[in-house]
Amino acid sequence: MMLLLAFSLFGQLGTGVQPIPYSKFMQYLDQGKVARVTITGDTIHGDLKEKPSDGPQSFVTQRVPGELASTLEKRGVEFSASPGAGPLGTLLSWILPPLLFVGVWMLASRYMLGGRGGLGGGLLSVGRSKAKLVAETDVKVSFDDVAGVDEAKVELHEIVDFLKRPEEFGRLGAKIPRGILLIGPPGTGKTLLARAVAGEAGVPFFSTTGAEFVEMFVGVGASRVRDLFEQARKAAPCIIFIDELDALGRARGINPIGGQDEKEQTLNQLLAEMDGFDRSVAIVILAATNRPEILDPALLRAGRFDRQVLVDRPERAGRLAILKVHVKKLKLAADVDLEGVAALTPGFTGADLANLANEAAVRATRRKAEAIAMEDFTESVERIVAGLEKRSRVLIPRERRIVAYHEMGHALVAMAVPGADPVQKISIIPRGIAALGYTMQHPAEDRYLMGRTELEARMAVLMGGRAAETLISEDPGHVDVSTGAADDLAKATDIARGMVLRFGMDAGLGPVAWDTEQGQFLNQPGNFWAQRRFSEQTAHDVDEAVRALLRRALSRAIAILRANRAELDKGAEDLLAHETLTAETMPKPIPESALPPPV
Ligand code: ADP
Ligand code: ZN
Ligand code: MG
Repeated sequence: MMLLLAFSLFGQLGTGVQPIPYSKFMQYLDQGKVARVTITGDTIHGDLKEKPSDGPQSFVTQRVPGELASTLEKRGVEFSASPGAGPLGTLLSWILPPLLFVGVWMLASRYMLGGRGGLGGGLLSVGRSKAKLVAETDVKVSFDDVAGVDEAKVELHEIVDFLKRPEEFGRLGAKIPRGILLIGPPGTGKTLLARAVAGEAGVPFFSTTGAEFVEMFVGVGASRVRDLFEQARKAAPCIIFIDELDALGRARGINPIGGQDEKEQTLNQLLAEMDGFDRSVAIVILAATNRPEILDPALLRAGRFDRQVLVDRPERAGRLAILKVHVKKLKLAADVDLEGVAALTPGFTGADLANLANEAAVRATRRKAEAIAMEDFTESVERIVAGLEKRSRVLIPRERRIVAYHEMGHALVAMAVPGADPVQKISIIPRGIAALGYTMQHPAEDRYLMGRTELEARMAVLMGGRAAETLISEDPGHVDVSTGAADDLAKATDIARGMVLRFGMDAGLGPVAWDTEQGQFLNQPGNFWAQRRFSEQTAHDVDEAVRALLRRALSRAIAILRANRAELDKGAEDLLAHETLTAETMPKPIPESALPPPV
């Protein structure tokens, strides 16, 4: 399993259409940058005269009422309308309004009964903000309350400094990230961290969740976003926290049959607010998600949530630190060995550990003890583990060993091949963010263009996991290669297909864009209606070319690991012992360039 923090990269490479706010479109118009547009209903597709440095040449935006045609004419833009809907559309326009009316009526009666999400104020309060929007001004949480997430704290420290003294940062022209996305499984302390940032900086904390925005009437979500930012601007310096960003920021257009409008409007409004920010206003937007892979890539672009902080399950030392936080107010017997408790609890989140401390205290109280004993902890661990096991699977030792080799394989190949992103961290914490284990690479810089070397490097790195498994499967008392590489193979295949079909990188098939993205709308993944535009024979050649690329990537990875077998074994052992290794603690492989050429 590979976790690339650059999830947006391929989205950007692959899709040629950039969703932009209407205001940006107007700005492009004013600057005379627009070449042509096609207007379908309220959706405007268009092309710029030149490709901007930060995105593709084509864009799409949602129209806001107002005079447009004459402006377009004045600016000399070629424009056309496309018939929105055929006879079916006309039919729908007859059927839909009554249906909508009934829908709205049903919704309204539900709201008026006050039965939904505590919207007791009924209809009148919709659109205005709920009480939740009032900022918390005196947050009592500090960084000391959050343990075991030191890297995240380091990253967030800078934000605290900025919020404390925004003028200074402005004076020196320092660039502060506008939006930070906290990524991690539930219960790892994302919400707690966000609050701690507010507490440390002593600024107001506006907190909301993605779900809150979308449970609303059409149009209300967007106006709530506007409200939120307006209030925040008045309260600056401050923090806006959006929990469960994925509920709001799901990639748009997955559902081709409508029903997305409300979310889309709300999301577009959020993007517009983030883009339209005055750099001198000291507002930082924090968001949290445990499903970064489904977020709309537009959210992760520069100037938006362009910094991502991983808040993963804690390793042993982290668990000890968290336990210490949660036993501070408890009375412990002399026999309690917190190190031992930390060793017993791999895979526990901060929330699980808080729960554990509480259970232990309850148990001690029940047996009328003077203080909480070690046995209260061990018994509670067993109960909680049993509960967790029902929800998620735990690795048996043999599987752990395979996962350790698999991840080490990714890491060593990444360090050995030229053109791969540097490895930051590898982890096999059970039930971590990526189910088994993960290797985290940070791209050295944001990239819109990648060369053949880099794409091939990336494929080899993705194959590193399978390559390591292949090597140990040859050992006596062998294990089979596992299913753990399924996801890696899928990603590598995507790259290979891209190289052959879109980037014209296969000599045999030539510089032809076999797979174009005509008719693709709003980053829609997979084009349902696309026609294959080439022959059976070409299809066959494409398969062959893709297979050849992947085979080459795998043998490359195997060759590297074979030459670095000692490092592989050492790294896997270290990983089993410590659960997590960083760039500094990993064994260093012999680089590919120093190896004899393959025979
Ligand atoms: P998330 O938002 O990631 O789902 P929360 O921040 O809501 O997790 O965590 C729930 C509770 O678990 C917190 O209020 C705290 O008591 C405990 N907790 C979670 N992570 C930590 C941590 N890193 N350090 C201390 N306590 C934690
Ligand atoms: Zn893998
Ligand atoms: Mg939370």
